[in-house]
Amino acid sequence: MKAVVVNPNTKSKVEVAEKEIRPLKAGEALVDVEYCGVCHTDLHVAAGDFGDVEGRVLGHEGIGIVSEIADDVTTLNVGDRVSIAWMFQACGSCEYCTTGRETFCRHVQNAGYSVDGGMAEQCIVAADYAVKVPEGLDPAKASSITCAGVTTYKAIKVADVKPGEYVVVYGCGGLGNLAIQYAKHVFNAKVIAVDLNNDKLALAREIGADLTINPLEDGDAENIIQEQLGGAHAAVVTAVSKAAFNSAVDAVRACGKVVAVGLPSETMDLNIPRLVLDGIEVIGSLVGTRKDLAEAFQFGAEGKVVPVVKTRCLHDVQDVFEEMEQGKIQGRMVLDFTDAT
Ligand SMILES: [Zn+2]
Ligand SMILES: [Zn+2]
Repeated sequence: MKAVVVNPNTKSKVEVAEKEIRPLKAGEALVDVEYCGVCHTDLHVAAGDFGDVEGRVLGHEGIGIVSEIADDVTTLNVGDRVSIAWMFQACGSCEYCTTGRETFCRHVQNAGYSVDGGMAEQCIVAADYAVKVPEGLDPAKASSITCAGVTTYKAIKVADVKPGEYVVVYGCGGLGNLAIQYAKHVFNAKVIAVDLNNDKLALAREIGADLTINPLEDGDAENIIQEQLGGAHAAVVTAVSKAAFNSAVDAVRACGKVVAVGLPSETMDLNIPRLVLDGIEVIGSLVGTRKDLAEAFQFGAEGKVVPVVKTRCLHDVQDVFEEMEQGKIQGRMVLDFTDAT
């Protein structure tokens, strides 16, 4: 079968290679992959930023159809459409796994990083961890919910925004545009979108943002939000920038929550009196559990959230990685494995 594997010696550090798929073990299922999205995390994995994984099949935004199950599998059937997500498998028995926080399991396996992922014609999954895609959800759009969708849905949950409250979303790209849709159309919040790019803000307005702010043109977002609204109830920061994190802390009102999703390799400034006197919380949020993903899929199937995706031929993968590296991509690029010849 054809697969996108890490090879440090090729363009964009990835190549399409021929791979053999091994026989199934207990608890596993074989998935015939239909689509797999390309994510910034894949660039980091390919570049060796998390360690050398030469030869690894990339991909954690995979969607496909189960074509075979091991004898002991009871949770999936042949023909089911399922996900191949970053949280590929956890231990199932530690304090995190048994308390609804399985994404923080210390023994978690990640698709396309610690195990072979979804950028291949076929992929082996841990059956109990593959989440079924509901009827009525387009598989290419589902691939985007498998990572960006569930990540932002979970972040809004963690932000604990009530209907009618204000949530400010920093960064309106691949993650942020889904955060806006979940916040607005699922949680019924009022959404303020902040980005440095006017095209992204135009898209944000189109999908439901109530107020958009471009700090380069309008002034500091935190000042505008405090002056006009008395502060937001919560902030979700998807922007990969320290400035956005610092602004978020100043944009929320007393007892506001700042949820960190973006991963800049910097430290943020935290004014300790501000945290103490105003009871501000700053919380990290990492992807989502299987239950979160099932919910995020369902809202996609109901049309409340519509990922912006573009399908590309598998053989364009090096170009897609290059375009992503250069920040040229709007929405999500999704590799098509339905006709991989
Ligand atoms: Zn991803
Ligand atoms: Zn665990």
